[in-house]
Amino acid sequence: MPNRCTIYEPTENALDICAQYLRDGEVVGMPTETVYGLAGNGLSEDSARKIFSVKGRPLIDPLIVHFADVAGAIKHVEVNAAVETLAAKFWPGPLTMVVNKNDSIPNIVTAGLPSVAIRVPQHPIFRAVLQRLDFPLAAPSANPFGYVSPTLAKHVHNTLGERISAVLDGGPCSFGLESTIVDLRDPENPSILRHGPVTQEALSDTLGRDLADHTFGSSDKKAQVAPGQLTQHYSPRAKVHLFELGTAPSNLSDIAVHENCAIIFNAKPLFEPIAKHAYWLSEDGNTETVAHNLFELIQRLDQQGYTELHIELSAPTGIGKAINDRLHRAAAK
Ligand code: AMP
Ligand code: MG
Repeated sequence: MPNRCTIYEPTENALDICAQYLRDGEVVGMPTETVYGLAGNGLSEDSARKIFSVKGRPLIDPLIVHFADVAGAIKHVEVNAAVETLAAKFWPGPLTMVVNKNDSIPNIVTAGLPSVAIRVPQHPIFRAVLQRLDFPLAAPSANPFGYVSPTLAKHVHNTLGERISAVLDGGPCSFGLESTIVDLRDPENPSILRHGPVTQEALSDTLGRDLADHTFGSSDKKAQVAPGQLTQHYSPRAKVHLFELGTAPSNLSDIAVHENCAIIFNAKPLFEPIAKHAYWLSEDGNTETVAHNLFELIQRLDQQGYTELHIELSAPTGIGKAINDRLHRAAAK
């Protein structure tokens, strides 16, 4: 199929065109502060079906629904004090809350679950489109299911361009990692379902209580029964190997001579890198910068044809937890 997808600069006219696509039931690639989303009418079964089909996403993996504001979001759910507290502190922003839904949200959007994942995003382009619409936008990451999430408009164009008409270009996504997901169905027992830019520490400080860790990698077996938390995800074609922060693999020089193998450090190496194929995600190891650049570098090296990527893990605090979570999934087979 030919790629007829237009990448639109975010002019008022382009925002109008994309809003009209969405009213017509089409799906559109749109920037958010986390990653690029594949947006469609969150109250329409047909649009939701289109999202699943364009991504090749299994119908058991529920979508996040994005709203223009808190008032718009809480109309569709069972609110509680914890939702209100976190919304006041973190919305608009990269935090998704799972709460019990009303009938207004179609079952296909939530994969048949009685709960829905909701978020008020902060990206000005995404917000400008929401403000033109009288419905919220369901929007998973705009990548083929299982592949690395897109952080540039061209990532969306390259991977889904044959199946969609439009992507709005908002430049690189500021966080570069998917939103944090917190389960607030029971406000007395909040838990974290996915690590992301809003840290577990920030959430527990705000709620004044600890959150159970129901993410992949937690020892809590409940994590395995939550939907959509597939062990293998975010995977490039290249095979991913991980090494601990500050411990370059012992066979570095062997790796270095292997033409199809790249080594990715968090910070620029202090010495002239031995490896011809050495790359770094930041100058100084700043974790936010590492997160911001991670998916873009992985996609670029994957496109260049490397077959093996050796990637350095981050310190497991703050957004480093989210980085390591994505890396472990990318490395899982
Ligand atoms: P994505 O849209 O690709 O960033 O992923 C959305 C993720 O949100 C899903 O894969 C689930 O892990 C999670 N999610 C969405 N809705 C629910 C829900 N109702 N209950 C639990 N997790 C959810
Ligand atoms: Mg995704």
